[in-house]
Amino acid sequence: MGTPDFPCTVPRCTRVGDKGFTRRDHLIEHLRNFHNLDIPKRRPGERSANPLGLPHFQHSESQ
Ligand SMILES: [Zn+2]
Repeated sequence: MGTPDFPCTVPRCTRVGDKGFTRRDHLIEHLRNFHNLDIPKRRPGERSANPLGLPHFQHSESQ
């Protein structure tokens, strides 16, 4: 089956790679319960570069 398709998007979280999630709703539940994130539902018709509708966590060291 290989590597799960839905690794956690939070930096330093261990739920990545082969410890990731095989289902998107499992990942979203993890983000909600484990990281206390509020994941908005995708609005219909909304275009997103992020197909999962998940927030991006990026380190902005230049700011
Ligand atoms: Zn996580």
